[in-house]
Amino acid sequence: MAKRDYYEILGISRNAGIDEIKKSYRKLALKYHPDHNPGDKQAEEKFKEATEAYEVLSDSKKRATYDQFGHSGLGGGFDWTQDFSRVRTDFGDLFGNLFKGSSFFSDFFEEGFGGREKGYQRGSDLQYNLSITLKEAAMGTEKYIELSQLEKCSACNGTGMKSGTGKKTCPQCQGSGQVSYGSDFISFARTCSKCRGEGEIIISPCGNCRGSGRVRKKHRIMVKIPAGVDKGSTLRIAGQGDAGLRGGAAGDLYILIYVEEGDFFHREGDDIICEVPITFVQAALGGEIEVPTLFGKVKMKISPGTQSGRVFRLRNQGIPSLRGYGKGDQLVKILVETPTNLSKEERKLLEQFRALSGERTSPEVKKFRERFRKNS
Ligand SMILES: [Zn+2]
Ligand SMILES: [Zn+2]
Repeated sequence: MAKRDYYEILGISRNAGIDEIKKSYRKLALKYHPDHNPGDKQAEEKFKEATEAYEVLSDSKKRATYDQFGHSGLGGGFDWTQDFSRVRTDFGDLFGNLFKGSSFFSDFFEEGFGGREKGYQRGSDLQYNLSITLKEAAMGTEKYIELSQLEKCSACNGTGMKSGTGKKTCPQCQGSGQVSYGSDFISFARTCSKCRGEGEIIISPCGNCRGSGRVRKKHRIMVKIPAGVDKGSTLRIAGQGDAGLRGGAAGDLYILIYVEEGDFFHREGDDIICEVPITFVQAALGGEIEVPTLFGKVKMKISPGTQSGRVFRLRNQGIPSLRGYGKGDQLVKILVETPTNLSKEERKLLEQFRALSGERTSPEVKKFRERFRKNS
């Protein structure tokens, strides 16, 4: 078939400017793009024809040669792998993000030129959401988790073939793994879709995995959680995602950590905050109280006259730092509880106490009253 004139292909005049060339090619490329016309060989040919025309006419040197000598002028030293660069360079300008992720375009621009390794495919990454207690986050822990992974099919050892059968040459690409297009002096290749570039196809697929080479299975695996993890921490466990295909590496497993704070503790960075109520008598007389920590109970001295809201610091009873050395502290916040549900006798005693005590036992109350008196 005789090659069509490049100007005719793009539907432009001989003296069209570069903007017009771009505009016209863009229109044709969008119309005939193989992603928009699946299985339509004619559209694909039109797409390639337009691309070739654009490639030549958008380059002033090549265009001059073509204007003077026609197709035969370009025939000699036309190196497609190098000379095709213009469409690639102009690609974003022409199409923006329109074909981002299009398999045809990546085939077209990458695999067609040099290709990639045949058929290897890395397994998918998996994510698992894991809840642990604050205590487990502080101490570090080991957890068994159950997850469903794609693993190598044991019936066919991942080959996807029924045992005793093999592969045959791919009829679409005749074993080359690539399908080429174009004319004598311009041709480009893409990975064969039938065999995914392997050049061979399975004669009789394995019944267990239906030829995929992988099956989904539940697995129980042990996960080590390091001390110091926080909510939102992510652990990556290499190789525990889905198995790869055709010899590809396995994906990774990502463990997303949730930390439940529980009844006593609230975390702030590496510090642990714990509110501890005491009776007003303990607060007034002082004494020893028991306080929970992430690492067990500890005894703490309360000095006589301890006020509500006072914070005691228990050194190194917090969360170990994930990076490097050191540990946070536990901050014990004291809440003094005012007595309720008084019995007759208790009330009598308190009234006696009121009669006995004066401003001396409550200096803050005294100060406040004085200020109040002055200012009103
Ligand atoms: Zn093939
Ligand atoms: Zn199988």
